[in-house]
Amino acid sequence: MDDRIVSGKRKPEDTIDAALRPKTLGDYEGQERVVQNLRILIEAAIKRSEPLDHVLFYGPPGLGKTTLAYVLGAEMGVNVKVTAGPSIERAGDLAAILTHQRKGDILFIDEIHRLGRAVEEVLYPAMEDFALDIVIGKGPSAKNVRLNLPRFTVVGATTRLALITAPLRARFGAVYRMDFYSHEAMVSIIKRGARLLNVPLEDAGANEIARRSRGTPRVGIRLLKRCRDFAQVRAEGTITAHIAAEFLSNYMEIDELGLDDVDRRVLKTIIEKYEGGPVGLETIAASISEEADTIEDVYEPFLLQLGMIDRTPRGRAATRIAYQHLNIPYNAKPRQENMFD
Ligand code: ADP
Repeated sequence: MDDRIVSGKRKPEDTIDAALRPKTLGDYEGQERVVQNLRILIEAAIKRSEPLDHVLFYGPPGLGKTTLAYVLGAEMGVNVKVTAGPSIERAGDLAAILTHQRKGDILFIDEIHRLGRAVEEVLYPAMEDFALDIVIGKGPSAKNVRLNLPRFTVVGATTRLALITAPLRARFGAVYRMDFYSHEAMVSIIKRGARLLNVPLEDAGANEIARRSRGTPRVGIRLLKRCRDFAQVRAEGTITAHIAAEFLSNYMEIDELGLDDVDRRVLKTIIEKYEGGPVGLETIAASISEEADTIEDVYEPFLLQLGMIDRTPRGRAATRIAYQHLNIPYNAKPRQENMFD
């Protein structure tokens, strides 16, 4: 189960975050490249008095894809309907949603890579021609009817771009990769969160939380809330550097790079059980009793970003940086010896 505090995946405790969501592009911290591009997209659409082009965001969970869909809605002054790939089970479900859209409205589809085939087939003409092809009746008397829809915008989000089918991807006018946030952006997001939640937070405390947040706003806000509880019980409410570091390191076991117990187990498995790799993702997952999908979506992107693992055609390998971080001598790896000796 993915119940780690440093997981970017949404958890029940995150649902009250709506108040913390930036409402406009001006409020939106970080992701400068994406934000700049979106400004142009919005301005062009407004100038032409047309709805926005379809937009696809991809990247690890918790980086702000859903937030951006709402921001786009606010900037364009339209409604945003939120749904997710797995919850649109039948083509009829999608047809029902589409016929309720008004001109310009945004349909946000999270985990769009998990849409079923039949549903995708309905989505293609809807996105391209703003039309719904429906079959009325059965057997020889069945008739194809084309229903026109108002022009609307699909904003899709996925953690796995590779799983999006080529025809679906081709229907998005704009495709943006979301990156992990810089340390500076995370500090601002955490300070803003503290202001909105009325939590006394010292600058050095924000710094401690930011460096353990894996460049992920959802994780940063979650850690801020947990530190708030600890500070209330132990330090009259103010989150200082000392309080944040003590709580996150000793109680949450999150180290100064933001790695938790699962990350360390992934690295140790590769290094100690499989001589540094390469070893297949499924094998690693089985060794530490985690789901391979969770490792691939949540843990691996950040370990790759830190340069601690390499993805090779034969599996994942630990790098020198991982050995150093875990204090394991790098040259202890037998496969580093010269093969021709
Ligand atoms: P995703 O859809 O990528 O999983 P969300 O849009 O749900 O991520 O964002 C996760 C949380 O992080 C949100 O609740 C929001 O409050 C916060 N958040 C995301 N991006 C930003 C940002 N740029 N500035 C401030 N807070 C953000």
